[in-house]
Amino acid sequence: MSSGVMYYLTTVLVYAGVDIMACIALNLQFGVAGLVNFGFILFQAAGAYAAAVLSMPPEAANGGFQQYVLGLRLPFPLPWLGGAAAGGLLAVPIGLVVLRRLRSDYQAIALLVISVIANTMITNVRPFLNGAAGLSLVPPPLGDLVNANSAGYQWLYVGLTALGCGVVLAAATRIVESPFGRTLRAMREREPAAAALGKNLVMLKMVMFIAGGVIAGLSGAVLVGFIGVWAPATWLYPETIVLFAALIVGGRGNNLGALLGALLVPVGFEEVTRFIPQVGPPGLIPALQWVAIGLLIIGFLWFRPRGTLPERRRVFADPPPAGTPNQSESNSRQMLPPSDRSRPLLAAEGVKRRFEGLRAVDGVSLEVVPGRITGLIGPNGAGKSTLLAVLAGTLPASAGRILLGGADVTRLPAYRRAQWGLVRTFQLSSEFAQLTVLENLLVAVPRHRGDSLAGALRGKAYWWADERPAVLRARALLARFGMSAQESEYAGTLSGGQKRLVEIMRALMLGPRVLLLDEPMAGVHPSLVEEIAACLERLRDEGLAILMVEHELSMVDRLCDPVIVMAQGQVIGRGSMTVLRRQREIVDAYLAG
Ligand code: ADP
Ligand code: MG
Repeated sequence: MSSGVMYYLTTVLVYAGVDIMACIALNLQFGVAGLVNFGFILFQAAGAYAAAVLSMPPEAANGGFQQYVLGLRLPFPLPWLGGAAAGGLLAVPIGLVVLRRLRSDYQAIALLVISVIANTMITNVRPFLNGAAGLSLVPPPLGDLVNANSAGYQWLYVGLTALGCGVVLAAATRIVESPFGRTLRAMREREPAAAALGKNLVMLKMVMFIAGGVIAGLSGAVLVGFIGVWAPATWLYPETIVLFAALIVGGRGNNLGALLGALLVPVGFEEVTRFIPQVGPPGLIPALQWVAIGLLIIGFLWFRPRGTLPERRRVFADPPPAGTPNQSESNSRQMLPPSDRSRPLLAAEGVKRRFEGLRAVDGVSLEVVPGRITGLIGPNGAGKSTLLAVLAGTLPASAGRILLGGADVTRLPAYRRAQWGLVRTFQLSSEFAQLTVLENLLVAVPRHRGDSLAGALRGKAYWWADERPAVLRARALLARFGMSAQESEYAGTLSGGQKRLVEIMRALMLGPRVLLLDEPMAGVHPSLVEEIAACLERLRDEGLAILMVEHELSMVDRLCDPVIVMAQGQVIGRGSMTVLRRQREIVDAYLAG
């Protein structure tokens, strides 16, 4: 092999490794967790700069021709680890600003803006990282042991890069294949439903923001060690777009798709277009490259939206291999002190919820006691769904108090209330569409060992003991509701009624103490309505406290006592159906209509 070819080949391989790591990081954030990080390149840049200044000697050693901070001259692999740490650390303040308050589309824009501002600042503040000129003479890793200009060194670097890729891919695989990965995908599919099942969305996003930042930082460190120079002009936001294009082409949600995308777009596409002869005015070919990348994104989104290697559908083995059962799983209902049946588990005191000027809920007080199904009826727009959302924490209350097991939870977010055993379903189908039916149920399992980043990274051997009983319990529920055959189907492909059932089963998987159901039987096949009713009666007799919005009065007659009637945001009557039927204004307002 001529040395020219060898240098070219090793260079392409190292770039491929860097792009693979970056794409895997972006896949964890965007493909799996649904975080649109348009500032991704900033984290790669941070890792590169950190690795550079950690490995470079103090400023003065080079005659002071460039200005920068640190200059610690640390030996390999410390600069790489430092680069990874820098990417992760940078994610903390940015995540705290962006991920807590903003809705996800604004998050994306904020991240884009932050990356542009950061670039402008780095370019213009010279003492920090030498400004627009950037850094050069970054020492090659292990350069004091191996002659960095030799062919052997080139291949050594390829080997180190491959090692980095291997570690990143292994970690990413563990995350994606774990219950934690399942939770991330549920969040991606439908945030309010994930929160209603006890998932702390801000925390999940933060963790993935940092994890992605760490990998991005490492990839930057690998790159800067290889090329030895780095300048802010190469860290512009369009590079992020190239990585998104790679994911869309390769297949988001699938680590191998991310890997393939990295090889196809940033590496393959750019290498191929490099050989196009120079025609037209200077800058024409690079501009056309951008056009082509845009077309590639549009083309894939149009014709193959899930990419070349789509996210895999997860089918569970039957029966699952044995493991030691974990007791936290089976006792999930013991979270609140055992309550006697007369004391309300859930109470609202003067709860109000306004939308702009509209008083959707206007001073509602009610109690939900264990061992009973409390009905909530009223005409369309009465505020029933809004009340349920406020009780569950999906929407904050404008005024009033909410007590759960005697404790004031008015200020607690939805996921905390869910962890205390308050679970709601939604009036509109809110299945996790790209998760299978079984996975939809498994998402709800509380305190699963594999449902954290640390647990996921420890691998299947660590968390399988919690997975097995969860799968068995989910299958028992599926059998009870006659949905075993749909176990491995994507929930998004089910009928409206089946989606409803999935939601109810999912709520039950959590082991709730209080269940808030918003029209659970709407759109469900009559034969299954009976099954749901029987199930609710059983849960009621077991001591569950249930609040149910229902339209079908015969069902309310059969199941609910007491019944609360709402109209225009207020409670206009309460009591048993027999009593309510005797009240003229209630009959006029609702029962007659
Ligand atoms: P119900 O479930 O009893 O049919 P809702 O609670 O859905 O009633 O709605 C009560 C009122 O609040 C309606 O007038 C509805 O238009 C309004 N509303 C509900 N959600 C919102 C929202 N997110 N923004 C503005 N208005 C809303
Ligand atoms: Mg409603």
